[in-house]
Amino acid sequence: MLKLKLHWQILIALALSIIVGIFLPESVKYTSWMGTLFLNGLKMVIVPLILSSIVSGVANIGGASDFGRLGLKTLGYYILTSLLAIITGLVFVNVIRPGYGIDLGFTQSVQGLASAKNSFGSTIQNIVPSNIFRAFANNEMLGIIFFAMILGFFITKVDNKYQTLLTDFFNAFFEVMMKITMFIIKFAPLGIFGIVSKIVAKQATQGNLAQVGSSLGLYMLTVILALFTHAFITLPLLVKFIGKANPVKHAKNMVTALLTAFSTASSSATLPLTMEAVEFEDGVSNKITSFVLPLGATVNMDGTALYELVAAIFIAQAYGLDIPLVQQFVMVFAALLASIGAAGIPMAGLVMITVVLSVVGLPLEGVGLILAVDQILDMMRTTVNVWSDSSCAVIIAKSEGEKLKV
Ligand code: ASP
Repeated sequence: MLKLKLHWQILIALALSIIVGIFLPESVKYTSWMGTLFLNGLKMVIVPLILSSIVSGVANIGGASDFGRLGLKTLGYYILTSLLAIITGLVFVNVIRPGYGIDLGFTQSVQGLASAKNSFGSTIQNIVPSNIFRAFANNEMLGIIFFAMILGFFITKVDNKYQTLLTDFFNAFFEVMMKITMFIIKFAPLGIFGIVSKIVAKQATQGNLAQVGSSLGLYMLTVILALFTHAFITLPLLVKFIGKANPVKHAKNMVTALLTAFSTASSSATLPLTMEAVEFEDGVSNKITSFVLPLGATVNMDGTALYELVAAIFIAQAYGLDIPLVQQFVMVFAALLASIGAAGIPMAGLVMITVVLSVVGLPLEGVGLILAVDQILDMMRTTVNVWSDSSCAVIIAKSEGEKLKV
């Protein structure tokens, strides 16, 4: 049987959902359950996926023998660049305001929206959950992430016997959750069809279609402009002034890896090429590449972090919700954590967006709005993710006194 690649299936699903939504709006009540099932699937995996991904990530890093100066420096750089990326996105999304004026009209019907207006103070207090099981049950993401980090960290502090057992357990659990997530993502075309045809039908009967289309276009433009600013201005400046290396030469060495990142939309799949280029073309030592890059492929995702924030604020705008600046800072923090928790596989960022949405109590259904254009944005943000990892390797190597070819 003809087996189409997932992105082709998604494109076909999109085309069909637009046709059905416009010409047969009555029929969407028979298909919208597919969207609901797909979203339920995503919601089902999100808590165990984040928990296992963070616990195993932290437990593995903490256990590495070189975790010390190098580890702190690398993590510091990763958090700094991710924050810079998110702030770039924050500026662009507030200036362009891509979702402003669509008004999906769900505002009244969405419950839980009240928590979007939670005060900054109470959001911060919720970081430490008083009952972890309640946090699991209510999707209190910040609390879950905090608990996972603490759990991962203290796993490295117990007796060797227990440490190995628990690290292995969480690694294995994470692998299984990834498999389940990939399985659910296979149904994305059907889910997209269910969700998008419903949105199109609703907007078409209200005569708003052109406006939703142009808002989505503006949203893509916002993400792309912010990604370009981060990749072509911020990161090269860091390489030049902090790393004292030549960003243009470094970029030339990275071309193959970056193109692979773009076409696979997976930092993990690109990792071997990234390592090869950084080690043999740039001349960074194996000690640094083998520590910095694998860690970066799972933890450091500047493009994803930026995208998480822009997408969540776009969704808020589309629901006609003005998120106050203080709340937006909570979202910055959530986007950072979501990008850390995202796996380096295609569409992982899309799954993690539910984290940012739930932190401020936005309806997860909003994901349906951005699904349509996720493919191309995934390719672009993955390229930025890999570009940032490789730049970090160069900067760290220089700071450790290595002589490089760039
Ligand atoms: N695809 C991205 C990556 O592998 C993650 C994401 O979906 O944002 O880096």
